[in-house]
Amino acid sequence: MRVLLVGGGGREHALALGLAGDPAVEALVAAPGNPGIAAVAELREVTPTDPAAVAALAVEVAADLVVIGPEAPLVAGVADAVRAKGIAVFGPSAEAARLEGSKTFAKDVMTAAGVPTARAYTCEDAAAVAHALDEFGAPYVVKDDGLAAGKGVVVTDDRAAAERHAAECGRVVIEEYLSGPEVSLFVVTDGEAAVPLLPAQDFKRVGDGDTGPNTGGMGAYTPLPWTPPNLVDDVMRDVVHPTLAELRRRGTPFAGLLYVGLAITPSGPRVIEFNARFGDPETQVVLALLETPLGGLLHAAATGTLGAHSPLRWRDGAAVTVVVAAEGYPAGPRTGDVITGADRAGIIHAGTRRDADGTLRSAGGRVLCGTATGPDLAAARDAAYALVRDVELAGSHHRTDIAAAAVDGRITIPG
Ligand code: AMP
Repeated sequence: MRVLLVGGGGREHALALGLAGDPAVEALVAAPGNPGIAAVAELREVTPTDPAAVAALAVEVAADLVVIGPEAPLVAGVADAVRAKGIAVFGPSAEAARLEGSKTFAKDVMTAAGVPTARAYTCEDAAAVAHALDEFGAPYVVKDDGLAAGKGVVVTDDRAAAERHAAECGRVVIEEYLSGPEVSLFVVTDGEAAVPLLPAQDFKRVGDGDTGPNTGGMGAYTPLPWTPPNLVDDVMRDVVHPTLAELRRRGTPFAGLLYVGLAITPSGPRVIEFNARFGDPETQVVLALLETPLGGLLHAAATGTLGAHSPLRWRDGAAVTVVVAAEGYPAGPRTGDVITGADRAGIIHAGTRRDADGTLRSAGGRVLCGTATGPDLAAARDAAYALVRDVELAGSHHRTDIAAAAVDGRITIPG
């Protein structure tokens, strides 16, 4: 199988490692890729959000499967353009990707499907915003209605800050605050059959102890020793299958990766958000434990044959990833700094570039991450931090508490 992977961040580096490790994948092309991905794939230039350009590249490289990593190409219709060329693609249509691209659309689908989630209002003016904030009270949850790369959400006790964010965004979804630890559940689906991967937890805030602003994600671990038994079965039954059925009913089946972001509240799991693609950095840890060949799994989802796929196999133990971010991230990351100590197994490249002379430099807010496995969470955590310690990047920062509460047994479900 010849595979074209679209994207160039940490998630795509993890996907590239998984695809390259599948004996059925005879050629892997990544566009645009990154210096980490270059070690396992041929890199090609492309604008990932240009449907015609990606489809043409898929034809040119004779791809049997196109895997689309990020959300923006999906929302732009890249999967549709590739499918129109008769090439199998892992990633939903633009219509189905609205599950991520529009918070209002997602709420609408959840309501129609009876999926447990926070009560919410879509607001377009200050009066509606004030009314919704009054109704739900603090902490206030205000979400930009469009794609915001995980950074369009403000959760705050500060009423003025909530109003300011709403005014800056224009159209927002304001919702009830959900209390409880969060879980990311990835589900591979062909629109009908659905296969859950291991639940993971990520760390959205920039600082230790969940302080500071939201980011794209500062680290992750899997598995989760503290989740209620049956969590995955319950979410498949109450969330995933009803959502997939509702999208089929609308004539826009969702095939690809359905990312279910959940809060485990005292009344049970509630959906915080859907995404239409693998999450970053949870993908790094989930794929580190996946033993089943990745290419075959994604190809089955892309060709409507997932129901016939054999059950997934997982490695024992745990995986942890720690993100190294550039100085100034998330507000205003500085780029162009020299990175040393990054050319080793377990270092996933997220925002890097390489000069002609081989020098590696930072090229984004989240620069790279150290991903490690171990016989248990504590060992995986130590190994991931050992990787990060050996990386040098001026001004960089990382959280020191990734997976710490889980290792110490400090995560509880309020009740
Ligand atoms: P989202 O982009 O919707 O995932 O939101 C980003 C982060 O904001 C989530 O991971 C949560 O930590 C937080 N968040 C979003 N919605 C809620 C909610 N209704 N209640 C509590 N926290 C939320």
